[in-house]
Amino acid sequence: QHALPHADVDGVLAAVGAGHTVETVTGHIDYAAYRASGGYALLQACASGVHDADAVIATLEDSGLRGLGGAGFPLGRKWRIVRAEPGPRLMAVNIDEGEPGTFKDRFYLERDPHRFLEGALIAAWAVGIEAIYLYLRDEYHGCRAMLEAELDKLRREPPVSGLPAIHLRRGAGAYICGEESAMIESIEGRRGMPRLRPPYVAQVGLFGRPTLVHNIESLHWVREVLERGAAWFAGHGRHGRQGLRSFSVSGRVREPGVKLAPAGITARELIAEYCGGMPDGHAFYAYLPGGASGGILPASMGDIPLDFDTLQPYGCFIGSAAVVVLSQHDSAVAAARNTLAFFTDESCGQCTPCRNGTAKALALIRQPQWDTALLGELSQVMRDASICGLGQAAPNPVDCVIRYFPHELAPS
Ligand code: SF4
Repeated sequence: QHALPHADVDGVLAAVGAGHTVETVTGHIDYAAYRASGGYALLQACASGVHDADAVIATLEDSGLRGLGGAGFPLGRKWRIVRAEPGPRLMAVNIDEGEPGTFKDRFYLERDPHRFLEGALIAAWAVGIEAIYLYLRDEYHGCRAMLEAELDKLRREPPVSGLPAIHLRRGAGAYICGEESAMIESIEGRRGMPRLRPPYVAQVGLFGRPTLVHNIESLHWVREVLERGAAWFAGHGRHGRQGLRSFSVSGRVREPGVKLAPAGITARELIAEYCGGMPDGHAFYAYLPGGASGGILPASMGDIPLDFDTLQPYGCFIGSAAVVVLSQHDSAVAAARNTLAFFTDESCGQCTPCRNGTAKALALIRQPQWDTALLGELSQVMRDASICGLGQAAPNPVDCVIRYFPHELAPS
């Protein structure tokens, strides 16, 4: 299960694990190196008719590859849905990685930018996309300069004729712009606020056109899956789950970083096998399985398979697979206060349950004694009536504290 699907992951894992920070991105696989190692040959084979679009989509469906931005929608099915819509069709690539604790997208982007670009261009070929918009987190300054340079090389020396236009757009510095419809608003030049659905962006998306929206990591795996076959990707996995997941692990572990591991691995296994265990003086106490929004679970629930759908019964979700590990020196109450302060700050303010609900809940959990009955009612309203996932998920950490950490709330 430690086999890594392409050789370059090893070096970057070591760099990220060692606390590597990136100001100016260098040392990545540039256009010439990517092509020299066989890059864009698959795109050329697609464009020249060696591969059939239906067969390519079928392989992706069989592999079980899902959207890795958080929602986990099956990738191949999404291609079919958008392809069935009338043209012109557009594509938006979400590189606005803003979930606290998540850094896998930057990890792949700063190392191997043409891999996701080839995935995007294969998607454009299969789905019939006229233009691609890359929405890059504004804080990733170094990546932006590098990506601009690599896009220039690609345009100057295109591997195939009739390359769709590729536009690079700077993010607006807001967490909510990672939500797909808010991202689309932002690309269109408006304030990033989520849209009501339906219609879904696959039907009415960017500039009113059917739009294929993907997280960058989903596209990163397209080439690998098509070259190695559906069975290769689906063959990974533990505890009955299939595929690979890039976990961004942080907090109280010896070796934090991006860990490419089988889908369905448990938090306890991830810490022991991929992160060198807990640091001296720290015992596993709790973990956030999905960044700020995916809830908090105690160590006693550290044997749940981590994957899409497996955490819902516990009021949690994996999202973009950001696992934050807490020890006995931390508290779930402090983590809930921290995450709710974040959501209060990042709420776009469009709808009352979220705008007022986050602020009200934060005020309540900053009290020494929690009014758990009132917090429970407030959570329910936020879940039921918020427009988007931010407001719906914001109460998760609070609800988890009430459900799983009552000892932290006991009157002293
Ligand atoms: Fe905006 Fe929050 Fe409503 Fe989402 S739930 S639309 S972030 S106010």
